[in-house]
Amino acid sequence: PVPPQGAPRKPAGVPGISSIIAVASGKGGVGKSTTAVNLALALKTLGLRVGILDADIYGPSMPRLMGISGRPQSAGGRVLKPMKNYGLKVMSMGFLVDEETPMIWRGPMVISALNQMLKEVEWGELDVLVVDMPPGTGDAQLTMAQNVPLAGAIIVSTPQDLALIDARKGLNMFRKVEVPVLGIVENMSYFICPDCGSRHDIFGHGGAQKDAERLGVPFLGGIPLTLQIRETSDAGEPIVVSDPDSAHAQTYRDIAKTV
Ligand code: ADP
Repeated sequence: PVPPQGAPRKPAGVPGISSIIAVASGKGGVGKSTTAVNLALALKTLGLRVGILDADIYGPSMPRLMGISGRPQSAGGRVLKPMKNYGLKVMSMGFLVDEETPMIWRGPMVISALNQMLKEVEWGELDVLVVDMPPGTGDAQLTMAQNVPLAGAIIVSTPQDLALIDARKGLNMFRKVEVPVLGIVENMSYFICPDCGSRHDIFGHGGAQKDAERLGVPFLGGIPLTLQIRETSDAGEPIVVSDPDSAHAQTYRDIAKTV
């Protein structure tokens, strides 16, 4: 049947992938990739078959975060085999170009690269593909939201007002293309002093929660700013796998259960 005029075109799905979830943020550096990786690993602990697509073409961080190096092998024809670690399948532009090579592509090339990473990678059967979106609400983000059959989007934000304003933009973008926003995760929510154990609300606390309430989207949880999260993600050993008994790993698993 012909969709009614003005109705957004529903993109075709990817065979074998049951559900595609985007992790997005209004701006860079808020911990979107760290959150995406830990959520993907937490989904894996729930018994799901999970993949991660690093859609951040200009600043891929999955090779570092997932502790993976090397190049993907060809699976025949144009299709590539995804890389693997911690039981996850991963594809990232970072596996295909050198770290020092700056990406100077224009929009259309980025979009075609994203399409290839989605459709010309041997993902096999996946329950969930987590897409680590590029930060912001530009061209690539919009195309991704329009061209990929997203089951929903998770917005990562820090409690700072500016970050929240940007996160709101991201929220509206997904609403425009009729992708359900599954909720907001507040990252760097507060800081626990490793010496005295006291809690410091460096960026102010609860902003994302209030914002989520006002915007009518679920608040999925807050992750504190901790040295351990910084060190484990920069070492390629995300906290959900390197310290599964920690309270933070539990928070990621709690969030994963809600999505
Ligand atoms: P983004 O994807 O939004 O650009 P990243 O996930 O790459 O952000 O995180 C940026 C930096 O902040 C990284 O060095 C990461 O280790 C650190 N980081 C992210 N979340 C936390 C956290 N909750 N506590 C401490 N450091 C964090």
